[in-house]
Amino acid sequence: MHFDTLALRATHQPDPITGVVVPPIHLSTTYARNEANELPGPYIYTRPNNPTREALEKTLAMLEGGAVGMAFGSGQAATMTLFQALSPGDHVLLSTDAYYGTPALLEQVFHPWGLTYTRVDMRDLEAVRASIHENTRVLWCETPSNPMLDIADLRSISQLAHDAGAICVCDNTWATPVLQRPIELGCDVVMHSTTKYLSGHSDVLGGALIFKEEAEFTQRVRLLQGLSGAVPSPFDCWLVSRGIKTLGVRVRAQSDTAQRIAEFLTNHLAVESVHYPGLENHPQRSIIQQQMKGPGAMLSVQVKGGADEALRFIGKLTLFTRATSLGGVESLIEHRATAEGPNSITPKNLLRISVGLEHADDLLADLAQALD
Ligand code: PLP
Repeated sequence: MHFDTLALRATHQPDPITGVVVPPIHLSTTYARNEANELPGPYIYTRPNNPTREALEKTLAMLEGGAVGMAFGSGQAATMTLFQALSPGDHVLLSTDAYYGTPALLEQVFHPWGLTYTRVDMRDLEAVRASIHENTRVLWCETPSNPMLDIADLRSISQLAHDAGAICVCDNTWATPVLQRPIELGCDVVMHSTTKYLSGHSDVLGGALIFKEEAEFTQRVRLLQGLSGAVPSPFDCWLVSRGIKTLGVRVRAQSDTAQRIAEFLTNHLAVESVHYPGLENHPQRSIIQQQMKGPGAMLSVQVKGGADEALRFIGKLTLFTRATSLGGVESLIEHRATAEGPNSITPKNLLRISVGLEHADDLLADLAQALD
């Protein structure tokens, strides 16, 4: 079955009793027992399980080709729960370029708790191999990475992880399963900030973990999900499920516009460089062609000059909203170093663009007037 059909069928389950085509939102936090004190179904209390959340979790597993899906209250809650399933003394290997909240969690929360971690350029397989220690349990990849759009070779990195008895996790937020399916490439776990493309409308916070198999580690994460309760509300689950119905069309259309924008910016005299997987000169072009079905709708641009020139440029834009986050239907632009704060290692002239569903010609005209 094609991805778009799967995304629709998975989220579309007409109710046999009422016939409702759109699934209801199950708000009840508790479930009644009969006279013999038996529960009619698998639900007891909504923290460990809820029918609306379960429907989303099944959909997520299906879309990523995994055995188990778990939904969380944010991308960070998903990441945190995975790290909590490790033990003090374990070691994590993380891409140098990654969403800044992932190393922040490791440094500020899990390092004091006993995890150690190393950041390594995941484009360099020899460096990855050399950074694996005896106690390495997780190789955490983010590809394309945030904000430099670096690409990690998921097949090779999964192999390195497995050779060392570790697991390979991929943050697939930017590519989405429309363009990249990490489990098919050998990864053990896929992570998402469903706040982004999966929900797609910048109106819900959510996260997910999808596991290749029902292993001991999967069960440990499920235990933590139910015990600690970093879970999304039923309404938030419903919103993410609704977003998934249009995921394929949105991502492909946004990606087509992003390609045109990247090409336009590459040829502009005020631009120093453009980071985008769809450009012929992307340094990991051959890996992109092997592991991605398309370049995606995120790009970063470094304008000539420094922070002042970058901020002057975005100040003149009228169709791109100056805001953090990404993956919604509206185009956003962000001076990443401002968002990341004083410890940011992102170049000061870099702007990150999340391309939305506006007409490409209008977006190009807006960029042109702001750069000229
Ligand atoms: N991973 C990536 C690649 C992200 O871009 C983000 C948020 O921007 C996150 C994880 C964290 O997700 P959330 O904001 O839903 O906690």
